[in-house]
Amino acid sequence: MARYSRNDQAGVELPKAKLDRESLRQVLELFRYLRPYRGRFSAAMAALFASSLLSLSFPYLAGSIVDAAVRHNQGGSLAGVDRTALLLMGILAIQAGFSYFHALSFATVGQRSLVDLRRDTYARLISLPMTFFAERRVGELASRLSADLIQIEDTLITILPQFLRQSTLLVGGIALIAATSLKLTGIMLVSLPVLTVVAVVFGRKTRKIAREAQDRLADTATIVEETLQGIVNVKAFANEGYELNRYHDGLGRFLTATLRGARLRAAFIAFIIFALFGSIVLVLWSGARLLQQGEITFGELTRFILYTTFVAGAMGQFAELYSQLQKAIGATQRVRELLRETGEVEARLGPTPPSTLPRLRGDVVFEQVHFTYPSRQGVEVLHGINLAATSGQRIALVGPSGAGKSTLISLLLRLYDPSAGHLLIDGRDARNYRLAELRGQMSMVPQEVLLFGGSIAENIAYGKPGASAEEIEQAARQANAHEFVQAFPDGYATLVGDRGIKLSGGQRQRVAIARAILKNPAILILDEATSSLDSESERLIQEALETLMHGRTSFIIAHRLATVRHVDRIIVIAGGRVVESGTHEELKAIDDGVYRRLAALQFRE
Ligand code: ATP
Repeated sequence: MARYSRNDQAGVELPKAKLDRESLRQVLELFRYLRPYRGRFSAAMAALFASSLLSLSFPYLAGSIVDAAVRHNQGGSLAGVDRTALLLMGILAIQAGFSYFHALSFATVGQRSLVDLRRDTYARLISLPMTFFAERRVGELASRLSADLIQIEDTLITILPQFLRQSTLLVGGIALIAATSLKLTGIMLVSLPVLTVVAVVFGRKTRKIAREAQDRLADTATIVEETLQGIVNVKAFANEGYELNRYHDGLGRFLTATLRGARLRAAFIAFIIFALFGSIVLVLWSGARLLQQGEITFGELTRFILYTTFVAGAMGQFAELYSQLQKAIGATQRVRELLRETGEVEARLGPTPPSTLPRLRGDVVFEQVHFTYPSRQGVEVLHGINLAATSGQRIALVGPSGAGKSTLISLLLRLYDPSAGHLLIDGRDARNYRLAELRGQMSMVPQEVLLFGGSIAENIAYGKPGASAEEIEQAARQANAHEFVQAFPDGYATLVGDRGIKLSGGQRQRVAIARAILKNPAILILDEATSSLDSESERLIQEALETLMHGRTSFIIAHRLATVRHVDRIIVIAGGRVVESGTHEELKAIDDGVYRRLAALQFRE
């Protein structure tokens, strides 16, 4: 099948996040994931609001204590102090209760809706057409996605509640200060617009740099993934040094970007500290003067100072929240872009609904099929292929490397659609079938069989999810796999894949054949393994394939001509065209024929 080198795929160019109405609307759209949990979410919001309001009573009561204490010094009773202190303790207890509730609720609601979002994103991702994957680096996509989802998680669980809390403190604080002394409030508010403007400007810049740093980090993650995936190649070429250099350069670019961001952030923090504490000092100084002039009481000044720290804290937090929000918008944009892509099939939870498509006969016709890979426009790979296979026929596709055999099979599987011409299945254009139903009646035994981490039984059942143990065993018997599976101490429960045992090439093929038998397809695709097996496994596999091919239309991509002698028809493809077609005997008889040349080459070997 198609292979990709690591350099032929362009990185994903993504639009920059802007904090405007449109992007905010997009973020809000993701909030529909909160809808199923809106009851709990609203309750949490209410609790948060209540606890923020209670926070606001704290400076007020603290001021009252001070005033009561001052009155006591002037000869009053201490009862006021005691009462207020008790009241404060009571309020703190209630506030603690509210806080427990909202912290837990936000986490619960946030995580639950995030699980939904992750599931949907994944469902969409795996349903996307091959063109999508051909145009992107898959490692980058995966790491980006997980980073973006973590960012969204942060938004739901921290940023949003913080936003509500800080807004309440800010507005409430300013209102309460204003009720005490308008003069002081005016002084404090002078610094507010300055802070806001600076915060916005800084925020924009940091966002841009943070984004760049994230991109650079994603690049390095891609390098790691590619290297580990191809670790055998890396070692075989002794290219550890080369990979390390590549990674090191990537890290260097990441470090430059991230440090630039760090410098900016540091400057931002320094400014905020200076401005915030500066405004507190200013208020303190004016307050002290008002107190001297007898315009306010000690208690009022205390209230004032405490409210000012609240308001200042909220302002500082706002700047931080603003930049977080911008990051979240960037993240949601990418996730939403993905969710907006149209999948070719619909992946859904639970058992697959039964197909309404009756069993196909398996007549396949390629009619003047031309094809150009969307990722390589301008280079036509198939130039007008005509080919007809009737139900139950065995068709071998042979031809030199790069001729277009795998491409033809990709079209049959509808991984791509022809650029021109038609693919007819049972006389109907393949595009008129529901994709999942069509593929449900096809099966492929690939060259390199990839087993999933899991038991052998699970791997065979991949052909028919939900198959019974008997069905699995029967398929394994027909695929000549039962014997070797039985020989393992754990039998069908033997784990394979990364954490399990490693099966030999021939054994993996038989598992794949069992998988295909279990699926019972009308159309079968065999991509013959290029590596030769010993004659005993070869015989077992050949036998199993015979069973499998029986009564199905089979396409065999044959690399070794010895195996195609008995097929109904051999199609020779060269340079994206069908150049010869017929039985082994017929093709061998063509003087100067491509097949004859290929055969001569192979049999000499
Ligand atoms: P082999 O026997 O080596 O597997 P093949 O006959 O199966 O070869 P294809 O894999 O179909 O050949 O490739 C046919 C042509 O299409 C080649 O020139 C190849 O470079 C090109 N090609 C294959 N896959 C892609 C792809 N995803 N994007 C762009 N071009 C591709």
